Amino acid sequence: DISVYVRARPLLPHELERGLAASVFAEDRTASVHVPQTTVRGESSVQVQEFKADNVYGPDSCNDTIYEQAVRKLVGFALKGGLATVFAYGQTGSGKTFTLTAFEASVSKDLFDLELLQQWIPGASHDDFEIHLSFFEILGKNAVDLLSERAPVKILEDHFRAIQVLGAREVHVRSTNELQQLIQSAVQLRRTEETSKNATSSRSHAICRLRIVNKSVSEAEDGVLYLIDLAGSESHGDSKYHDKERMKETREINTSLSVLKDCIRNRVLAIYSDKFVHIPYRNSKITHLLKDTFEISSMRATQTVVFANVSPSSDDVSQTVNTLRYVGALRIPVPKLQPAPNPADPSTWSNATLSQWVREKSPKSLVRPEILCPTESGRQLLRVPESEFIQRCKQCDPKITDRAAHLFYIELWKLMVDART
Ligand code: ADP
Repeated sequence: DISVYVRARPLLPHELERGLAASVFAEDRTASVHVPQTTVRGESSVQVQEFKADNVYGPDSCNDTIYEQAVRKLVGFALKGGLATVFAYGQTGSGKTFTLTAFEASVSKDLFDLELLQQWIPGASHDDFEIHLSFFEILGKNAVDLLSERAPVKILEDHFRAIQVLGAREVHVRSTNELQQLIQSAVQLRRTEETSKNATSSRSHAICRLRIVNKSVSEAEDGVLYLIDLAGSESHGDSKYHDKERMKETREINTSLSVLKDCIRNRVLAIYSDKFVHIPYRNSKITHLLKDTFEISSMRATQTVVFANVSPSSDDVSQTVNTLRYVGALRIPVPKLQPAPNPADPSTWSNATLSQWVREKSPKSLVRPEILCPTESGRQLLRVPESEFIQRCKQCDPKITDRAAHLFYIELWKLMVDART
C-alpha cells in the first residue's frame, strides 16, 4: 500500500549563477547521486550512489505527468471510501511546496470531474458526495488552523479511540474554484521563517485534508485524502545559525520525521510479520493525527504515496543522500519466504477460500462471492475500501442493508486483526 517516488527539481537560476553542477540523475526507477570524495592522499574522486524507487522524476518531468502517474488514482480511492495520503519529504528548497501545490490544484479539478467519477464508480453522480476541506499546520506540539486565521487546533483521541481535530474549521466545498481558492488562502497563511537556506523555509507540517462523504452509503467511514507538505528536514550544519527556540523546533521536526518513518515501516512489517509489531504513532502529533493510516486495527483500506523531493545541486549532495536514505527505508521488500499461511488470517486466503467463507458467513446467505469478490484474494478484498465493499454487497441483493454489510466488513477485518495482534 506504499509507493515511493523521487523528484529532483531543476537547478535554480541562483544555483546556475554560482556555477553549481547537477549531481542527481534520474533514470527509470533509479536516482544516481554523484558524491564528491577526497582520498587520504588528497585526491578527488566521485562516488556514484544509487537509490531505487517506484519511479524517479528528473528536472524535465512536469507536474501533470507526475500527478497522473502517481497521485490521480488516490483521488478515486478516496472517493470509494479509502484513506489515501500523499507526503512530500525533503530538505527546505527542494520543491515540496511546488509539487504539492500543483497536486492540490489537480485534485481540486479531479474531485469535480464527472467523467473520472464514473470511471471510478460507474453510475455515481456528484450529488452522491459531499467534499469537506480542512487545512491546518503542526509545529512541534502545537497546531493552528489555516482556514480561520491561525486559530489554535487540538489533536486529541476521544473515548472511542478516534482522533478528533478540535478547532479546525471544515468547509463544505461545492466546486473546483471554491476549493482552489480556499487552498491558496491557506497556503499563504502558512508560517514561514527565515533560515540560512531559504528566505521562506517551511518549519511546519502543512496538512490539507479532504473528507469525502458518500451519501449513498450511510454506514461506511468517510473517504479521506491527505496532502501533507512535511517540514523541511535539516542537517546539523543548517542549524548552527539557529537560536535556542529554533534549535528546539529543529529537534521536534527531526523527531516527528523519524517517528513518521517508523510508523510507515512498522505498518508494513506488522502486515508481513507473524509477530506483533509496535507502531509508535503516539510519539508525535502528526503520526497521532494519522493513526488510522498506520494501525491495522483501524480496519481501513489505505494507500500511501511518499515523494522524496531533492535538490540536484552539488552543494546539497549530503542532504540529498539523507533524503533518499530516509525514503529508501520505507521500501520494505515483501519477504520471499512468507510466513506459513495461517488459516485464521483472511489476508492469506486464496479466492476459493475467501469465496467459501463469504458463502458460509454472508448475512442471510444473500451476499454472493461472484459479485463481492469475483477474482480477489483475501488480501485484495481487505484493500477494498469499506464503502465499495458495502456497495458490492448491496448489488448482490437490495435487501442487504448498509448496517448488515458494514458488520460483514468488520467481521472480515476482525479476523485479520485478531490473527495479527
Ligand atoms: P520547499 O517547499 O521544499 O521548501 P519549494 O517548493 O518552495 O521548496 O521550492 C523552492 C524553489 O524551487 C521555488 O522557487 C520553486 O519555484 C522552485 N522549484 C521547485 N521545484 C521546481 C520544479 N520542478 N521546476 C521548477 N522550479 C521548481
